[in-house]
Amino acid sequence: MKIINNISEMQNWRNDSAKIAFVPTMGGLHQGHLSLIDLAKKNADKVVVSIFVNPTQFAQHEDFGTYPRTMDADLAALELSPTDLVFIPNTHDIYPDNAVFNQDEFAQDKALFEILCGKSRPHFFYGVLQVVRRLFAIIHPDVAVFGQKDYQQLHIIKHFTSGTEIIGAPIVREDNGLAMSTRNQYLNADEYKIASKLHKILKQIERGELDLQSATEQLQRYFKLDYLELLDANTLKKITDNTSKIAILSAVYLNKVRLIDNIIF
Ligand code: AMP
Repeated sequence: MKIINNISEMQNWRNDSAKIAFVPTMGGLHQGHLSLIDLAKKNADKVVVSIFVNPTQFAQHEDFGTYPRTMDADLAALELSPTDLVFIPNTHDIYPDNAVFNQDEFAQDKALFEILCGKSRPHFFYGVLQVVRRLFAIIHPDVAVFGQKDYQQLHIIKHFTSGTEIIGAPIVREDNGLAMSTRNQYLNADEYKIASKLHKILKQIERGELDLQSATEQLQRYFKLDYLELLDANTLKKITDNTSKIAILSAVYLNKVRLIDNIIF
């Protein structure tokens, strides 16, 4: 497994004809990330994984400074995976221009950036899109794999990137149903148990055992609710007669930890 820190070295490596699949991450790797890498390998000759804690997707008050940075463990896990190359750029190389990003391009589709997670994190999807586009411009992947756990992110990336096929990968969960996340490290043992209620309640909606109102009340027993919504999974707009897939999407706070989850059916 090769490790590259430098953009020109990365671009030189890319100059062969192999089909490349790319998995962007912020490190703090868990089985969810590793499942993306396995799926990437099934879709290409070589797999590139990036580790970059992207400053532009964090607001001032968020956890950029304390976000789990576990490089040694990450590299050890990647060695055992089908990863061919790990790209670990530094912030200055990704953002030599102080991360200027013109949002005008998205004026017509602004709503997509402002609903769901965008309501409480208005900067977030612009930051994600910015870094993904810059990484794509360096790596030129044929395919890139993103987790469905971040469903709105996957949707936005599918819509606003080009030249790379975007593949969505299923959510990997803990035994108790909690969607795996790097930020789960912030949960103590009691919180970890309570956190599993989020998925259980979403499943009850899927099975028709809870309507939106009762599910909201249930979630509020355990969490501070950010949002719970049922939308058309293809458009992230209201469900209509033409809706073929429904997305149940939720974000909650458990004390200071923000959890997100979804079910598509
Ligand atoms: P992150 O390192 O949190 O930016 O995540 C990197 C990629 O891993 C994103 O495409 C996430 O959607 C994906 N991911 C994170 N957690 C999971 C999970 N539990 N199951 C599947 N994919 C995940």
